[in-house]
Amino acid sequence: MRKVTILGATGSIGQNTIDLIARAPEEYDVVALTGAGNIAQLAEDAVRLRANLAVTAREDLLDDLRAALAGTEVEAAAGTQALIEAASRPADWIMSAIVGAAGLAPGLAALEQGTTLALANKESLVCAGELVLRTARAHGTQILPVDSEHSAIFQALIGEDMASVERIVITASGGAFRDWPIEKLAQATLAEASSHPNWDMGQRITIDSASMFNKAMEVIETHEFFGVAPDQIEVLVHPQSMIHALVGFNDGALMAHVGPPDMRHAIGFALHHPERRALPVERLDLAAIGTFEFRAPDEVRWPALRLAREAMQAGGMMGAVFNAAKETALDGFIAGQIGFTDMAHVVEDAMARMSASDGHIADTMTLDNVLQVDHLARKAAQAAIAKRAG
Ligand code: NDP
Ligand code: MG
Repeated sequence: MRKVTILGATGSIGQNTIDLIARAPEEYDVVALTGAGNIAQLAEDAVRLRANLAVTAREDLLDDLRAALAGTEVEAAAGTQALIEAASRPADWIMSAIVGAAGLAPGLAALEQGTTLALANKESLVCAGELVLRTARAHGTQILPVDSEHSAIFQALIGEDMASVERIVITASGGAFRDWPIEKLAQATLAEASSHPNWDMGQRITIDSASMFNKAMEVIETHEFFGVAPDQIEVLVHPQSMIHALVGFNDGALMAHVGPPDMRHAIGFALHHPERRALPVERLDLAAIGTFEFRAPDEVRWPALRLAREAMQAGGMMGAVFNAAKETALDGFIAGQIGFTDMAHVVEDAMARMSASDGHIADTMTLDNVLQVDHLARKAAQAAIAKRAG
């Protein structure tokens, strides 16, 4: 049996991972499941999958988790250290699917034990790509990308030589506001930003899709993970979300990865790698679909793409600033403090504040230093929010 742990088990990626694992319970020994606020789901899955350990990130919910697990054999724990301890328990495969920079430390702990890490938590690559890859190398660990675009790129690169790669194209659906008049965007509501035309995902990434911050993060993720230069990475708007990414080679060939918008493909690919196993996803009927559309991304509509390029150009820990400011701006939008289009202004303002002050961006990239930059960038973003809101 393979020992598996799912960090962020109660989320959208976590639940899709559990869906696949629960189809073949005889193959998996579930070591730990983690969540945060959704105690009922965490406890239910931990009992159903016979996990050894269930951890909530929220210490205030430990008693609730204990109560939900009373009379079962599942151990309960809570808090940041408990998440790290869960990720450190021996496992053969760990899914990193916590949302946000909170996924960085547990992901690093998983890499340090030398296990295969299926990485959905793109924020850890945006905040600390060099540290994450260095840790994986030092412990002889393999990282398998789970973001659909990056899984697609990984698959298109199998058997290829990176030296012959000319460019990487990642597609974007364009999210909820692809066809909205630009002048209406400032008034977009939380409910409008929280619905995605093609993918069913967590609320935060859905809003990030509407603002294109998700794609901006994915450009940085591509740069960090595959080691390609920023000017070799293109974003292409493709409303159908069926071509996930394309790799362009020096002989003019473009290898495209086509599949239905269902995360169980990328999760299943990472779960079974290096095998390719049958997965319960729809088979596309291309004749019925008829056409694939493509458009260039509009950088006026989506300033996030430009900001990601500026973060990559600045280098050092500007990725951590970009991510922390984005998370804080998103919190501000969800809380109704700022409007939809303010999010990009807040990130731009926070990046400027952090470059102007000693934001420690050029310090050595260690976990402590990344967390310090993350903390300072959140404060800078809060100041920018206060300025816009007030
Ligand atoms: P969700 O919001 O659905 O789930 C997030 C998970 O993280 C939940 O288990 C949640 O617990 C937990 N969590 C929330 N806050 C914290 C915290 N502070 N500390 C520890 N755990 C926490 O997110 P998604 O599943 O959509 O996304 C997860 C990751 O995968 C993100 O990095 C996202 O960018 C990436 N991703 C997601 C895709 C998708 O299709 N959803 C596609 C590609 C990438 P609880 O729910 O119990 O509060
Ligand atoms: Mg993606």
